[in-house]
Amino acid sequence: MANELNATIYYEDDADPNYLRNETVAVLGYGSQGHAHAQNLNDSGVDVIVGLREDSSSWEAAEADGLTVATPDEAAAAADVISILVPDTVQPAVYEAISDGIEAGNTLQFAHGFNIHYNQIQPPEDVDVTMIAPKSPGHLVRRNYENGEGTPGLLAVYQDVTGDAKQRALAYAQAIGCARAGVVETTFREETETDLFGEQAVLCGGIASLVKTGYETLVDAGYSPEMAYFECLNEMKLIVDLMYEGGLGAMWDSVSDTAEFGGLVRGDEIIDDHARENMESVLERVQNGEFAREWIVENQAGRPSYTQLREAEGSHEIEQVGEELRSLFAWAQEDEESDEESARVQA
Ligand code: NAD
Ligand code: MG
Repeated sequence: MANELNATIYYEDDADPNYLRNETVAVLGYGSQGHAHAQNLNDSGVDVIVGLREDSSSWEAAEADGLTVATPDEAAAAADVISILVPDTVQPAVYEAISDGIEAGNTLQFAHGFNIHYNQIQPPEDVDVTMIAPKSPGHLVRRNYENGEGTPGLLAVYQDVTGDAKQRALAYAQAIGCARAGVVETTFREETETDLFGEQAVLCGGIASLVKTGYETLVDAGYSPEMAYFECLNEMKLIVDLMYEGGLGAMWDSVSDTAEFGGLVRGDEIIDDHARENMESVLERVQNGEFAREWIVENQAGRPSYTQLREAEGSHEIEQVGEELRSLFAWAQEDEESDEESARVQA
């Protein structure tokens, strides 16, 4: 494993707002990322037009936020930079609807590489194709910007016909607040494949299965569901918060010596060579496009497996137990909210 950082990181000083000065940016979609990008760009003085379906419930919201709204094809036709922020599964259809309005020298701007990397959108050869992907949900991208803070992001250039693709993407990153925190250069392939691997093997899939299997092991051995819930799910947040603040070291430092020794001596027994092989197989199916095909076909078929898996996950015993326990301990949540409130007041 390499132990030196080799990524290029761009900051405020590396970005030149002039690259967006005479440009119109169409932001297609007004969801998590869309509303944040559109408002931050607008507040940064960039000319923004939001593209939404005529029956979209967001139309009034975007107008109430002081933005100009048009249909996606009108917005794209009027724009120089077209930021595609509708859900990934919807992007190919939206792209079809706007493709007539894409002109030579325009920029197609993404926040995730899936559709470009897996060829679900095949852009014309005479446009720039870039990515600025904030590493956080949209409401934080907006809140951080308003607080004068930044949100870290990724930058990638897939196609550069104007010669300015990277500089224009950096100006976009600056306008939505990412350059204040730092923008890491990557590629569409790396962003897409690491993102999919991470959410499948570690963040969403891995952690949910670790929690459920730990819970089931305790309950099957006769321990109470309440104890199993607290041990295997509730305490996860405390541990992850420590890792977020100071890496694994902060976590090991903060737990008892008994927990540290027990964890160090047993952790690799749980995530053993077999689990590593499974992770490698998950990665392989991301890399060879098998997962992408599976997900595309699943959507075309109306999401039958997805629906079934969701239902099964939702009816797991840990979810019922958790709901009851969280309602009994609601005071804990209220406390946390008022802490957040007072932290905000102090800030
Ligand atoms: P979202 O689901 O929050 O919002 C999508 C918006 O698109 C909706 O609010 C609506 O305005 C519009 N929309 C939905 N269906 C549509 C349709 N059929 N036709 C036209 N418009 C439609 O999406 P999001 O989470 O903001 O994701 C947008 C992009 O940002 C994706 O590429 C995603 O991978 C990427 N991204 C998301 C996050 C995140 O935390 N949410 C983080 C980084 C990158
Ligand atoms: Mg992700």
